[in-house]
Amino acid sequence: MKAAICRSLNSPLSIEDVELGPPGKDEVRLNVAACSICHSDLSFMRGDWGRNPPFLLGHEIAGVVETAGQNVTGLTVGDRVVATLIKSCGHCACCEDNLEVLCTTPPPADGGGISTPEDGAIDVLMNTGGFAEQVVVHQRQCIIIPDEMSFEAASLLGCGVITGYCAATRVGKIKPGESVAVAGVGGVGINAIQAARIAGAETILAIDTDSSKEALFREMGATGYINPLEGDAIKAVHEANNGQGLDIVLVGVGSSRVIENAIGMIRSGGRVVIMGMPASDDLATLDLGVLANDAKSLIGTKMGSAMIREDIPKLIELYQQGEIHLDSLISHRYPFDDINTAIETALKPGSSRVVILFDHEGT
Ligand SMILES: [Zn+2]
Ligand SMILES: [Zn+2]
Repeated sequence: MKAAICRSLNSPLSIEDVELGPPGKDEVRLNVAACSICHSDLSFMRGDWGRNPPFLLGHEIAGVVETAGQNVTGLTVGDRVVATLIKSCGHCACCEDNLEVLCTTPPPADGGGISTPEDGAIDVLMNTGGFAEQVVVHQRQCIIIPDEMSFEAASLLGCGVITGYCAATRVGKIKPGESVAVAGVGGVGINAIQAARIAGAETILAIDTDSSKEALFREMGATGYINPLEGDAIKAVHEANNGQGLDIVLVGVGSSRVIENAIGMIRSGGRVVIMGMPASDDLATLDLGVLANDAKSLIGTKMGSAMIREDIPKLIELYQQGEIHLDSLISHRYPFDDINTAIETALKPGSSRVVILFDHEGT
């Protein structure tokens, strides 16, 4: 099968023929129908998180079960699914505490794996490897989607949508009437805005440097927009909220500077949720006296602490009710052969989710 391998940092991916091993007994092989590009893919390609090529990326996947291992239950060949990078055992202390994203004993891969004769095994990052025609994933990474749901819309549920939505609801616990800002409105932040709207927040400020997306931010639920390049964003937030600090700021960009500023945007007793994953060496300077004295909370979260068996079906229901918008989050679509153009597009202002579409016979 073909896969788009990252062979060197900050360079185009290389589409190559690779071998994909058969699924293990608890795994399934999927024909990938759609894989959207997430900021995390771009961060790995830049070397932000210290992984060296060659490796395979792509982790917002929707597709069809092509082969199922002998112990797989609840999934059969032909099922349409979304696959996430969250791989959990379901019974460790973290899984039982509704934190499957922190599972301490995730099932090891017992099949799959990609290789070439020259390289041997190639690393598949984030448990998925969706920049390829097929993937092998554990059955617990997959959630069935309805027949009428498009693969491209479903693929978004694999990472960006669950992270933003769950960060706002499970971690931020936004309540009706609260004042909210989302700082850094990318594929995660836009869904925190949608979640804030659905939760009944009264003020929802989108803070982002890309003013060309203001209309999209408002369509998703933002009641105001602030461009931090146009002046003091902390001051602008207070002015937009009747001179008060906000109840909650959700930070969608992995940046210490933005996190520091977010603490200045909340009221005493308010909270900041870190949704975007900062680079490994990104250190913040915080006035801890302010955090303590003003009882401000700074909360980290990985993937919004999503519990995929609860949250993905709930999001599909919200999508079918017209509450969560997915189709209008997609700005561009490209065939797999044009994946490098797709990645360039994802980096440009004005683009939101960029989806790679695959052509399989019979799907
Ligand atoms: Zn992602
Ligand atoms: Zn676990």
